[in-house]
Amino acid sequence: DHVIAPVIILGTGMAGYGVAKEFRKHDSDTPLILITSDDGRAYSKPMLSTGYTRNTEAADLVTADAGTMARQLRASVWTMTQVHSIDTAQQLIHIGDSNSQVHYGKLVLALGADTIVPPVQGDALDHVYSINDLLDFDDFRKAVKKTQAKKIVLIGGGLIGCEFANDLINGGFNVEVVDPLGYCLPTLLPEQAGKAVQRALEAKGAIFHFGDLVSAVNRNPAGGVKVTCQSGQELQADLVISAVGVRPRTELAAAAGLTVNRGIVTDRKLQTSAANVYALGDCAEVDGRNLVYVAPLNAAAKALGQTLAGKASDVVYPAMPVMVKTPACPVALSPAPLGAEGSWQIQQNGNDTVAEFRNAAGQLLGFALTGEGTKEKMRLQKELPPILA
Ligand code: FAD
Repeated sequence: DHVIAPVIILGTGMAGYGVAKEFRKHDSDTPLILITSDDGRAYSKPMLSTGYTRNTEAADLVTADAGTMARQLRASVWTMTQVHSIDTAQQLIHIGDSNSQVHYGKLVLALGADTIVPPVQGDALDHVYSINDLLDFDDFRKAVKKTQAKKIVLIGGGLIGCEFANDLINGGFNVEVVDPLGYCLPTLLPEQAGKAVQRALEAKGAIFHFGDLVSAVNRNPAGGVKVTCQSGQELQADLVISAVGVRPRTELAAAAGLTVNRGIVTDRKLQTSAANVYALGDCAEVDGRNLVYVAPLNAAAKALGQTLAGKASDVVYPAMPVMVKTPACPVALSPAPLGAEGSWQIQQNGNDTVAEFRNAAGQLLGFALTGEGTKEKMRLQKELPPILA
């Protein structure tokens, strides 16, 4: 009998499950295996930063367990299974404790991104949390309960740091934020827009320490921890959250000899430099772009689902603005392409900002909207060129 080699997907985040769903729309027969190092529960990762606002525990965020997903997708879902290496010549992956090998017909890398760990010293690093998946989220909430935490210091005032700051404020915590740059979301917003977010969060009680770095977190004999900054400033806290950014998980691909840059390099068909190996989601760099948001991975899943089913398809990225979950001052932003020439044209009234990034010919290349300014999102989105037409 001729046995059809399975499609194997590594990772069961929104990218892994997303592409599995799209694939099954076009092919209901080919064996499908999903492999994950976690417990394979399906959840919406953006909800990790609204847990206190919406009063949700980890279990509330789960939309389906691994068994349910397996039935829905007519797939096998292998949980708690680490993939050690990939042999692209033989089309094999090596997995698990016994290091068994599995053959694939097509392989999809949906491995996500790791949080960057800042170089912090001290004897209380077990009090420093990063919240990048459901298990992290559960750990943090348990630590809050156990320590009866009231005061949280955040390392990083970027998109994720500001979302957590607002969420913790909504949960009744005292929040201080330390960031080496000068204002909120400094890598994504022009200064005036970032300052609007800062003022709105300050009005709710947040305290920001810009232009400073956390250098150590030590136990405080009186309870909690002492956070020491490079300037010498010391902050007291019960717990610390680190949110300084993510780095695509590229090690497995690099070790297999795949081309890796910031992410695992793919073309517009999501194909890596190896035949029959594809990548999408936070781990992938698609035609030069490593976009770590939900909308791009959904677009990629759609195209790749067809390609895996035998109908080779290019990914199409329209303009995809990101909504930042800071209800104290909502933000909608669409960064201009890297290296784009142009300048900001900014209108501001209080904390309401409409900032348009235009080139010399007047073409809109990006925008940053805060407060009531977010009402302009639809209008401006229509004016933006697609990211990948
Ligand atoms: P992941 O969800 O990280 O999945 C990776 C999978 O790979 C996991 O199943 C993991 O177990 C598995 N894995 C890793 N290594 C191995 C291995 N060696 N062997 C086997 N399995 C492995 N985006 C938005 O667009 N809007 C938002 O509002 C938003 N809010 C966010 C809020 C927070 C707090 C965070 C952290 C992110 C947010 N994002 C948001 C980003 C968005 O959630 C991510 O872009 C998206 O979830 C990435 O999905 P993924 O499947 O690529 O990666």
